[in-house]
Formats: sequence, structure tokens, C-alpha cells
Amino acid sequence: MQVPSQEAALRAPSQPRPVAMPVKPSLVGMTRQELRDSLAALDIPERELRMRVGQLWHWIYLRGARDFDVMTTIGKGLRARLADAYTLARPEVVTEQVSRDGTRKWLMRMPSTGPFDKGAEIECVYIPEVDRGTLCVSSQVGCTLNCSFCHTGTQKLVRNLTSAEIVAQVMVARDRLGDWPDESPPEGAFVPSDGGRFVTNIVLMGMGEPLYNFDNVKAAMDVVCDNEGLGIGRRRITLSTSGVVPMIARAGEEIGCMLAISLHAVRDDLRDVLVPLNKKYPIAELLEACRTYPGVSNAKRITFEYVMLKGVNDSEADARALVRLLKGIPAKINLIPFNPWPGTEYECSDWETIERFSQIVFDAGYASPVRTPRGRDILAACGQLKSETEKLRARARMMLESGIGAEGMFSAAE
Ligand code: SAH
Ligand code: SF4
Repeated sequence: MQVPSQEAALRAPSQPRPVAMPVKPSLVGMTRQELRDSLAALDIPERELRMRVGQLWHWIYLRGARDFDVMTTIGKGLRARLADAYTLARPEVVTEQVSRDGTRKWLMRMPSTGPFDKGAEIECVYIPEVDRGTLCVSSQVGCTLNCSFCHTGTQKLVRNLTSAEIVAQVMVARDRLGDWPDESPPEGAFVPSDGGRFVTNIVLMGMGEPLYNFDNVKAAMDVVCDNEGLGIGRRRITLSTSGVVPMIARAGEEIGCMLAISLHAVRDDLRDVLVPLNKKYPIAELLEACRTYPGVSNAKRITFEYVMLKGVNDSEADARALVRLLKGIPAKINLIPFNPWPGTEYECSDWETIERFSQIVFDAGYASPVRTPRGRDILAACGQLKSETEKLRARARMMLESGIGAEGMFSAAE
């Protein structure tokens, strides 16, 4: 006899099935076109739409409005109709962790899409410096690409984020940092002190492969760059890809952002293992796409990310081969100390090895900053993101206890 599962028992035929409650959509994160469609759905006359979109845009993206009541340029009647049909809700912040170095990591839950969906969870990391604040934004929940050294690639659930969900990460960051007119940062928070905005730069280096979610990433960056709103310059946005060659030129043409390539190896046989996408798009094709990246120049160089894995890709011969490989490409090389995560087979290279590697790259005429690991104590560093709240807490504790979270182990500046 089959024993009914608990869920089936809960939904026995005599019981009413759970009904999806109509969820009011949030306007936050929407593009101009989406706002226009949302207004048109309220039967706002065609001739008013442009002006109304402009008003909403101003309140949402310039003023950070969290309530329709503050939108004083919009009449009371329309404000009430908007509030009936829509919200200004942001993704829920499930946890906020603040590292000893000021880095903040938010675990955000996206609104549920139905009765059995508890809402996708993603992570977003804020890295403050004296004169800039960089937000590391996710483009997907999880990642399909399974790079062998990356924690995110081990996450099972994968879906694309919508453009609104990508923009909403910036909105949440500015909310939590008090980065709106007439607001101030939380007591004791580390934010840039140069009098400018707290979120000045965006790196698409969180969870996911941004070029596998191109349309949503592009639409989101259009919102984020809009000068009448969030106003982040395109050159302050860096898109990092593991090498989706056919989409690289479009990133330059249509997003106009800076490009970072996760190279990590100088030989195809090794890169096939570290970044399995290499089997599809090998190093030579990847570098050709970089040579012809729209707008690439000495002023707009491509960043090559190279994770330092002990005994795997960190020899002096590797360093020399790297320099040869990048000849002729306006490039910066960013050496990333491997950030360990429980269960990984890799170790970070020794500091002396990283220094030797860096020196060879530097002697060849490249700036070779070693990326200072930030937020290691809260598992916020590159490749440590994986949004399973409970496991994450347990792992963070484990890592702290085993001393892996000793940030400041590497001291080079970017
Ligand atoms: N999917 C994109 C962007 C997200 S990953 C990409 O792969 O480029 C952002 C960067 O973190 C990439 O360079 C990635 O290779 C690197 N990374 C992943 N796991 C890491 C780890 N455990 N330690 C250090 N860097 C890591
Ligand atoms: Fe995906 Fe980038 Fe991680 Fe590779 S390194 S698994 S592409 S997030």
C-alpha cells in the first residue's frame, strides 16, 4: 500500500486546494517600458504616459521612495490607484552580515512566484573603500557552469534573475546603506567618505554567468545607468564572464560596460578542467573576442582574472605563458587568491608564490594587483557565494573556527 506523503495528505480531495493569492507587482526595478505598461494597465491616457513614467522614475530611482504617499508631484487620486494595484516592495533581506573589514553581504529572497515557491534566494556583496563603493551583483540563482573551484557552481537550483531582480539588488543596497537624499548610513558603517554616492561601481561577479542571461542583464544595466535615476556610469560597470564567446561583442556594443574575463589557466587542457566551458570556447577563440571587444583601448582595458590555485596554475612558467598569451591585448591582470570553501579540493597558493607570479607579470609591463580578499569571515569573497541560508551559517561558522576567515592574510592593494 502506498502511504500518502505529507503534502498529499494536506491536499486530500476533501480539502480545498491552496489558491494562489494574486500578488501585487512591485514597480521597483522596472524599466521605463515596464512602468509604461503598468500605467497603461490602469487606463492612464496615452498622452499622459510619458510624463507619468518620468514622475515614477524620479521617485523610485532618484529619491528611493518606499511609499506612494511621498510622491507629491502625483495627484492623490492616482497615488491611491497605484497603491491599489502595485507596491514599491524590495526583495526581502533574509540576513545581513557585516565583515570586520566593512564588507556587507545580504541574502535576499525574491518574491514568491506561486503557492509552493518560497522565493529564490540570492546574494549580493557590498565592498566599501574610501573613494568608492562596489556592489557585486548576481545575475542568476546559482550557475550552470560548474567551474571546479567555484562554490556557486555547486548549487543545484538555477534560474535566470529578471531584470527587475537585478536592479532591485542595487535598490536594497542603497536602502540598507541609507544612500538616498535625506538619509544617512547606519551607525558605524564603513562607506566612502568623499562626499559622493555610496554605491559607485557595479561588478557583475556575484552568482551566475551574466552572458547566459544577456537580455535581463542588459535591461537592468540600462535602468542602473540612467542619468535621471541611479546614474551609475557604464564604465563603472564591469561584467565578468567565464568566456561565453558569441555574446562578448554584444556586451560591448549593447551594454557598453567594462569586461572581465575569468581566464585562470594558460593551457586548454587545464582550463578545460577549471572552467569546463573552455571545451566549447577554447582560449584562442576567447582571446580573439577580447582583441575585437568593442571600444577596447589602453584607456578601456580588459581585466583578466586569474585565481591562484596551489600547485595547479601558479608556476613561474604559467606566469610567463600568461604574459605571452595576452600580448597585444590592452589588459589588466587581476590575481585572485583562491577563496576556499568547505569540501573543495583546491588550496590557495602560498603568498611567496603569488608574489613571484605577480612580479613576472609586473615586469612584463602589466599592473598585476592581487585582489585583497574582502569579507572572508562572512563567506562574501569571490566564488564563496551560495545561497542556502542554513548551510551557509554552518559553513561560515566552520570556516571561522578553522581560521580560514583570517582576512588580511594578503595585503596587496588593487
Ligand atoms: N560567472 C562569472 C561571474 C561570477 S564569478 C565568471 O565566472 O566570470 C566572479 C569571479 O570569481 C570569477 O572570476 C570567478 O572565476 C571567481 N571565483 C569563483 N570561485 C572563486 C574562488 N573560490 N576563489 C576565488 N575566486 C573565485
Ligand atoms: Fe559560474 Fe562563474 Fe562560478 Fe564558473 S566561476 S561556476 S561561471 S559563477
